[in-house]
This record gives sequence, structure tokens and C-alpha cells, in this order.
Amino acid sequence: MARLSERLRVSERIGAITESATLAVDAKAKALKAAGEQVIGFGAGEPDFPTPTPIVEAAIDAARDPAMHKYTPAAGLPELRAALAEKTLRDSGFACEPSQVLVTNGGKHAVYNAFQTLLDPGDEVLLPAPYWTSYPECITLAGGVPVVLRTTETTGFRVGVDQLDDARTSRTKALLFVSPSNPTGAVYPPAEVEAIGRWAVEHDVWVITDEIYEHLTFGDHRFTSMPALVPELAEQCVVVNGVAKTYAMTGWRVGWMIGPRDVVRASINLQSHSTSNVANVSQRAALAAVRGDLSAVAEMRAAFERRGRVMHRMLSEIPGVTCLEPQGAFYCFPSFAGALGRELAGRRPATSAELAELLLDEVKVAVVPGEAFGAQGYARMSFALGDDDLVRGVERIAGFLA
Ligand code: PMP
Repeated sequence: MARLSERLRVSERIGAITESATLAVDAKAKALKAAGEQVIGFGAGEPDFPTPTPIVEAAIDAARDPAMHKYTPAAGLPELRAALAEKTLRDSGFACEPSQVLVTNGGKHAVYNAFQTLLDPGDEVLLPAPYWTSYPECITLAGGVPVVLRTTETTGFRVGVDQLDDARTSRTKALLFVSPSNPTGAVYPPAEVEAIGRWAVEHDVWVITDEIYEHLTFGDHRFTSMPALVPELAEQCVVVNGVAKTYAMTGWRVGWMIGPRDVVRASINLQSHSTSNVANVSQRAALAAVRGDLSAVAEMRAAFERRGRVMHRMLSEIPGVTCLEPQGAFYCFPSFAGALGRELAGRRPATSAELAELLLDEVKVAVVPGEAFGAQGYARMSFALGDDDLVRGVERIAGFLA
């Protein structure tokens, strides 16, 4: 047997994963801030609002309830699973049973569970880019192969049935679909959601549909749920969702997946051997959130819409920068391609990663480079931050690129 020092200390599987770039940028910006620098962070994928008070109160009550100090079912508190089934019918028009719901440690964990449960080694997953940075890693960790489909501003960063069909092979197992999208802010119109759902049914392709930004859409853009529009898809569809974005609850770690009973049962088995139940206090907070009305999210949505418009206008005025107006979520995804290759502060950034580094070093502005989303030349800028910081931060970028 090889000695320990001669063998890989970290498994090949885990060694191949990259650090989450979005979390890394956020951590670097927060560290600089803690060191006294006036950093403006556009990196974070989280609302800047506190969790609404009634939700926090529900958590305090739960913390005082001895039943919440014990293990509870791995699948989630029964009353929360039931409330999530009701909420899904209310918000998406998609009917499901509580037994089809698994409560997970955030939406990210639901994505992870879904791929672990569905994929065998070599199974291909169609992954439209720009993509959220955790999707390809979750696919790879499950032994799957991400098949990246490039999209650009010309199609509004949306993938079409023709493009899906061109990429389909005998190994295609699933499609990852997300609308509103992180990082592009794109929202698919209902006819396109339906066409993709019908295509998936026709070709026996699973759809993992990430609905975490369902309540954050702007102007005339509306969220539509694929299995609600295409009921035949329900037997080959996993819905991913969570309280993080809708209720400003990123730190509470509650998400869920909804799918066919056999798949959810298998995922519950997986979860029973990995994380067990999600923290009960957080589950009770999530219960208060989804049982409550949507007034808090309406206020946040309005603030995001206003900020998104301002950021989009300011970015579009910078020479060399182009930007699609955000339709949902809370991100602008500008292209900095026109600014690359120029001499800036004595350097000549050739990639968006180099430009992002320069922006942080020189003007103390943190953006997440497009490389993290499979889209070189772009950057993701969250507008989930205060109005004044937003304006000041974009002004710094404009001044630097002038
Ligand atoms: N899906 C998308 C598209 C996201 O942007 C995020 C958060 N960045 C998540 C899922 C996961 O959210 P959480 O794990 O915090 O619930």
C-alpha cells in the first residue's frame, strides 16, 4: 500500500472543485471592510434587508419550545412540508402533496440533493450559461457531465428549444432551468417556459427548475412555473426553492425540493445519512414566512426594481460597457469586453477576472467576474445594497474606466 504522503491527501473528486467565487469575492470585500477600507461590495447574492420581525418572533418562540430541541424527521417538519405544498399551489399554481416536499439546508442543498439523486456517472446535464456558479460543481460532484450552452445578450441570455435539441445526446439526463436567473437577471416569457417543458417531455429529459427568485420580477416580466404550465412534466421534474431571497433569510438556511414521490423518497434517504433535519428553529421561521402574506417581499421587490433601473442606466452610460436591463432577481450582468485590453492604472487587464481584481485594488469596488458563471468578459453586480452605496460604487467604476 502506498504511504500516506504518496497518496492524494484530498480525493480527486473533491480536489477538483473550485472555491465558490461569489462567496470568495464577498469574503475578500468583507475582510477589506473590516480592515477599515471603504469597500463597496456588489458581490453578495443576498438582500440587504433584515428578516421581517414576525418571522424572527416565530423563531424565538420555537427556540423556547423543548420539542424543537430534539431531532425531527429528516424530510422536514410535517407542518412545514404541508405549508410548502400549499404555498406552491398559491404562488406557482402547481399542485403537489406534502410527501413530495423535502426541506433542505437552503436552496443550494436542494440542488445538490437533486443531482445526487438523479445522476449516474456520465449522465449529461444541459446547463445554459451564464450559470449560477454552484450548478456545474453540484453536477460534477454527482458524477454528471455539465454540457454548457452559451447564451448572450442577443437572445436575452435565454436558451431556446433548438439550442437544447442541438446539444441533446443519448446520455442527456436533465436540463437545469432557472428563471429569473442568477447571474443574468433574465426572465423567460411563459410561451418559452412552456415550449421548453414540452420539449423535455417529448425527449424524456428531466428538468431541475430553480424557482428561488420567483417573487423578484420587474416591469411586465412575470415568473411562471414550468410544471404548472406543463403538467405532464411533473413526473420528471424537480422544483428547487427556498426562503433566502423572498424573505431576506439567507442565513437561516432553509430551502426545499419538490419532485415525484420516488425521487423525493430517495433524496430523503440521502439526507437522513448526511445532514438529517434542517435546524428546527429555522424551519419554524420558514413556516411563519410561507404562511404569512407577501407584503414584505413586495416592498423589497419595489426597492430592487428601483435600484436595478439606476444601476442599469449608470452602467450603460460607461463607454465600453453594455448591459441588459434586469428583468428579475437582483443582479446586473454587464459586459466589460469593450474595456478589456486597455491600459488602466498601469496594467492591461485582458480578462474580466483581472479587471475585477483591479477594481478591488484600485477603487475598492467588489464585483464577481464572469468567469465564475462561465461567461468571460462579463461581471455580476448585485443591486441588493443601499441606494447611496450603489451610486457611489458605479461612479467609482465609471471614473476608473473613463
Ligand atoms: N439558486 C440560485 C439561482 C441562487 O442564486 C441561490 C443563492 N445564491 C440559490 C439557489 C441558493 O440559495 P440558498 O442556498 O441560500 O437558499
